[in-house]
Amino acid sequence: MRSRIKTLCFLCVLCGASFCRSLDREAFSITNYDLNLQIEPEQHRLGARGKITLRNDTATPQKIAVLQISSSLDWRVIRAANKLLQYVTQPYTSDIDHTGVLSEAIVTLPQDVAPHATIDLDIAYEGVILLDTTRLTRIGMPEDLAKNSDWDRIDEDFTAIRGSGNVAWYPIATNAANLSEGASLFEVLARWRNRQAGSKTHLKVTTTFAGDPEPRVLLNGANCEPIMLERVGTPGLLSTECNAQPSQRDTPTLLIARYGVMEKRPVTVYFLSNHDAAASKFADAAETSAPLVQEWFGPAHDKAKVADLRDANATSFESGPLLLVPLSASTSKSPGLTVVHQLTHASFFSPRSWIYEGLAHYAQALYLESQKGRQAALDYMGAHRSALEQVEPNSDTAGSEHEVKDSLVNTSDEQLLRSKAMCVWWMLRDMIGDAALKKAIASYKPEQDNDPTYMPHLITAQSQRDLSWFFDDWLYHDRGLPDFKIESAYAASTPTKSFMLTLTLDNLGTAAAEVPVIIKFASGEMTKRVELHAKSKLTFRVEMPSAPQEIRVNDGSVPEGDVTNNTFRLPEPTK
Ligand SMILES: [Zn+2]
Repeated sequence: MRSRIKTLCFLCVLCGASFCRSLDREAFSITNYDLNLQIEPEQHRLGARGKITLRNDTATPQKIAVLQISSSLDWRVIRAANKLLQYVTQPYTSDIDHTGVLSEAIVTLPQDVAPHATIDLDIAYEGVILLDTTRLTRIGMPEDLAKNSDWDRIDEDFTAIRGSGNVAWYPIATNAANLSEGASLFEVLARWRNRQAGSKTHLKVTTTFAGDPEPRVLLNGANCEPIMLERVGTPGLLSTECNAQPSQRDTPTLLIARYGVMEKRPVTVYFLSNHDAAASKFADAAETSAPLVQEWFGPAHDKAKVADLRDANATSFESGPLLLVPLSASTSKSPGLTVVHQLTHASFFSPRSWIYEGLAHYAQALYLESQKGRQAALDYMGAHRSALEQVEPNSDTAGSEHEVKDSLVNTSDEQLLRSKAMCVWWMLRDMIGDAALKKAIASYKPEQDNDPTYMPHLITAQSQRDLSWFFDDWLYHDRGLPDFKIESAYAASTPTKSFMLTLTLDNLGTAAAEVPVIIKFASGEMTKRVELHAKSKLTFRVEMPSAPQEIRVNDGSVPEGDVTNNTFRLPEPTK
C-alpha cells in the first residue's frame, strides 16, 4: 500500500495538480496483443502475461499511458525494456465492462512517446471472471433479465467472454461509458473500435479440463490450433494458439466448450451436446439462403460462424460473421432469417455501420420476401419501424447540432444503424430497382470508402437519378420521419367512361420520401409512386378504369411518424 501512495505522490509531482484532469485516456491505441492466457475454468480464473504495443494517436508526445482491464482482474506487472514501470492503479467506473468498473493502471512511461510512435510493454494481470450483472442492475434492470444479457463468465464446462463492451479481459484504453446516458456506451465503443482497426491479436490459450473429450477453444469463431494436449493427471491440460486480426466490426470473443462441429459450405456451426438437430437446421438454412446473399452481396470472403450458448435464455450476440445464440432455444424461430444476417457480413464488408449493419438487416427483409412475399418483409420492417419512432425526433430539428450528429452517417446509435439503415436500403431499392442497387453494391470497395458520400455516389451513378434530396434527409442529416396524409381525393367520370381521380397528398413530417400510393377500385388496384418533400403538398391526377373506392398512402415501406391519417375512403360516385 505504502509503495502505491509513494507512486501516486511521485506522479503528482511529475504532472502537477492538473494530473487527473489532464489524463488523456484515449491517447494510445493498442496495435498488437501477444498474450499467454492461463484459464482454470473450475476456479473461474484467468491469468495473462505477454506483450502489447501502444501507439500514440495524438499530436503531442505522451509520457503517461492508461491501461484498463475488468475490475475483477488485477494488474501484476507492467514493464518496458525489462524495467519495471511506475504505475498507479485505481478503480474507474465505466459501463464498458460488465462489472461496471475497470481496474485502471496509470503508467509512467520511461520516456516521451512521440506522435504516431509506438512502445512495447510487458504486462501481467490475473483474477476471476464470474457472472456479473452490476452495470445493468444498477440502472434498474431486474436481475433475471440482466443475467440473460450479461452472461459472460469463465465456468466449468462453458466459458464465453466477449471483449470490449462486455468484459475487458484484455487491456483497453477508453473514457468512461455510462449506460444511463443514451448512446454513451455505443460512442465510446465505436471510438475504441475505430482506433483499434488493423490491430493484431496472437493468443496462446492454455486451459485445464476434466473428463473427455477435451474442449475446443475459439477466438472470434475461429478454431484455435491445439499445440499441446495432456490427458494424464487431473485436470487435463490443453494449449492452443489463436491468431486474429479483428476488424472494426469484431468484438474479440473467447469461447471454451466441448463443441461439436457441423461444416457446410457457407457456415460452420459449433453446437453443444444434444443440439445437433438445431445445428442442422441452421446449417441447412444457411445453404438455402446463401444464393440470395451471393446474388446481392457477392461471393463470401469468409465463412459465417454460429456458436451455441449454454443458457437457453441468453440473448444472442453478433460480432461480424460470428453469431452466438442458444441453439436449444432457437429451433422454433426461423434459423434462415437469423443466419442470412451473418452470411451477409461474411460476404460484404464496410467500415461504415449504416452500410454494414443496414445491409445485413436489409438482407433479412429480402430473405422474408423471398420466402413469404413482400408483405412479410414489410411486416418485419414494421417491427423495426415502431422502435424507430421512439428514437426519432418528432419535431423540426433543422439547423440543430443533433441533426448532423445523429445523422445515419455519423451516429453510433444502434437502433438507427440497424432499423433506420435497413429502411433506407429498402427505400433505395424501391426507388431505383434491384438491378441498379445490386450494381451499386457490387461496385463498392471498402478500401476506397474514405468519405460518407462515396456510397451515395455509387448509387447515383447506377440509378442515373438525382437522389441528393433523399441522401440529405436520410443519411447526412437526422430529419426525423415523414408523416403522410391524404388531404383530399375527388373522382369524376370522364366522357370515355373512365374515371379521373384528383388527389392531394400532404407530408406533415420533416423528411422527404418517395412513397407508394395504392388506389383501390372495383376491379382491382393500382400503385403510383410519388416524391413528397418535407412540409409540402402535392396534387396530381390519375385516370382509372372504374370508380376509385379507397386510397392508401404508404404500404409500410417508408418509416413514418403517424399512419392513422394514411387512408381515405371515397364516397360512391354520383351517377
Ligand atoms: Zn450484424
